[in-house]
Amino acid sequence: MTDQILLGAIEAGGTKFVCGIGYGDGTIVDRVSFPTTTPEETMKLVGDYFRSKTVGAMGIGSFGPINPIPGTPDYGCITTTPKPHWSGFNLVGAVRREQDIPVGFDTDVNGAALGELRWGAAQGLDNCLYITVGTGIGAGAAVNGGLVHGLSHPEMGHIIVRRHPKDTYEGTCPYHQDCLEGLAAGPAIVKRWGVVNGADLPDSHPAWEMEAYYLAQALMNYVLILSPQKIIMGGGVMKQSQLFPLIQQKLQDLLNGYVAHPALQGSIGDYIVPPKLGDNAGLAGALALADAALAVRS
Ligand code: ADP
Ligand code: ZN
Repeated sequence: MTDQILLGAIEAGGTKFVCGIGYGDGTIVDRVSFPTTTPEETMKLVGDYFRSKTVGAMGIGSFGPINPIPGTPDYGCITTTPKPHWSGFNLVGAVRREQDIPVGFDTDVNGAALGELRWGAAQGLDNCLYITVGTGIGAGAAVNGGLVHGLSHPEMGHIIVRRHPKDTYEGTCPYHQDCLEGLAAGPAIVKRWGVVNGADLPDSHPAWEMEAYYLAQALMNYVLILSPQKIIMGGGVMKQSQLFPLIQQKLQDLLNGYVAHPALQGSIGDYIVPPKLGDNAGLAGALALADAALAVRS
């Protein structure tokens, strides 16, 4: 019964931080947002926001890679990010210095998967996959009500995909060049087609068929490996709603009837959906992490 306890939520993004407070039923009662600068400056603003609020637990959904495994040496830290100043920064430690409360710490996409499972598009199900296609590509998986961890956390945006026959663009990933993120995240679209923002390309532009070609391959792999009951696709690039039917059709073509489940046959418009929590998905996800941390402590 954690619904009456005020919870803190931090959506720690590479571009902006969103802080908010809410309850264990998913209600958000207040939020603020500020640009991500240095860890010191940013965490001062986080501290200022929460100082006057008595929260029973804190949830942090963070950009990554991170170490979300409690009890390991750099638990709570952002690890190998190329973002200046943030590599090695201990986010959980910074929050705990201010308040001695349970902290739930996970990737932004794992948080979003949990939020959508509890209050959004996957409500009532046992598992789902949340993928964001934005500045990068990342996915989180809720399985049997919990989140997937192992050595650290999944990095489903960096899988290898088969190249589109007409794609000569080399890819943007600094680690793998033409992995999924390297070929299909927002910056790859911008550079491949020479526009300022993917939003500048018309709906009928071949960019979207190519984008769907890559994303459908990724979803095929996720379906075959994790068997999610729902796939939720968010992030700036997925604002291009014409991508949904393209991806759905290509996923069906790729699977070729192999996975015999009604969700994947006929119309699969209910299987691959946008986030129901909309622009609140990230903050709601952090709230879900806070509630889960409180449940572990109590
Ligand atoms: P972030 O991933 O940084 O949290 P977003 O999810 O908004 O932020 O993703 C930003 C990326 O998505 C940028 O590369 C931008 O070019 C691209 N993008 C944003 N809006 C659109 C749109 N409507 N159509 C296509 N691409 C978009
Ligand atoms: Zn990569």
